[in-house]
Amino acid sequence: MTASTPIETTAPWRVFSATASVYPVADRQAVPLGELASGAELFGEYTTNPETDEDWLKTVFDDKSAWVPRVHLYRIHPHNVTEGNISVGTEKVDRWWGLPLDYEPDDLVPTPVKHRVELKRDFPVRRATAEALVQMLEAALSDGIDIRVTSAYRSGEYQTRLYTNAISRDGHSQRYSAPPGHSEHQLGTCVDLTDPDDKFSFTEAFHDTLQGRWLEKNAGRFAFRRSYYPHNVKQTGYISEPWHWRYWGK
Ligand SMILES: [Zn+2]
Repeated sequence: MTASTPIETTAPWRVFSATASVYPVADRQAVPLGELASGAELFGEYTTNPETDEDWLKTVFDDKSAWVPRVHLYRIHPHNVTEGNISVGTEKVDRWWGLPLDYEPDDLVPTPVKHRVELKRDFPVRRATAEALVQMLEAALSDGIDIRVTSAYRSGEYQTRLYTNAISRDGHSQRYSAPPGHSEHQLGTCVDLTDPDDKFSFTEAFHDTLQGRWLEKNAGRFAFRRSYYPHNVKQTGYISEPWHWRYWGK
C-alpha cells in the first residue's frame, strides 16, 4: 500500500445488523449466496439499483461477485477515529462515511428550556454548538421569530432504532433516516428546528414559515448551515430537510 492509495479502498464497510444476506445480483428476490455476521468487514463499490432505488454494495463473496444491501452496512472514516472529541467542522459524516457507533462527544450540554419545543427532553448539543445556537435563537427572538429545537444529539444506538423503524415502515429505499454511524445528529453539532406550535416540524412546508425563512437568511452568520436542499438530494442521498442545521464552527 502506498501513501497515495485512495482512502475509499482502505476503509471497510461493516455489517451492523445481526446478519446480512449476500445476493448474486442486486435483487432481493434472488436466492442468497450466503450470510454475513454482525461485524463482518467487506470492500466494494456502492451503487443504486435504478429500478428499486435501493442502495447496494457490490463486493466479492467466495470468489464470486456478489451484492449486499446497504441497509445492513456502515463505514467509519479514519479521520473520525479519535481519542476524544472530533474538532467541530472537520467531521466526515455523510451517506458514504460515518462515525464509530459508540462515538459520543464529552461536552454535550442541554438546550436551554426556553428554546425547546418539548420541555421534558433536554436536546443536548456540544458546548460550542450550544453557545452559537443560543446566540442564533436569541437573535431570531429579537426579530420577533420564535424558533424551537425538536431534535439534537442522538447516540449511535438510538439511531440504529430509528433507522430500523424507518426501514420497516417505509422500505429499503427510504431516504430520510440515516444508517447508524452516518447520522449528523451523532456529532452533537446538529439540530432539527421547528416553530413553537410544532405545526411544521419535519415537513418541507417549514421552509416557508417565518422560522424557516429567517434561518435561510440568517443562520450562516452563526456558522450554521442547512445540510439537505432539494438540489443536493442525489449527492447527499437524503430528502430536502429545511429543518436540519449543522454547526460548522467559527
Ligand atoms: Zn436532523
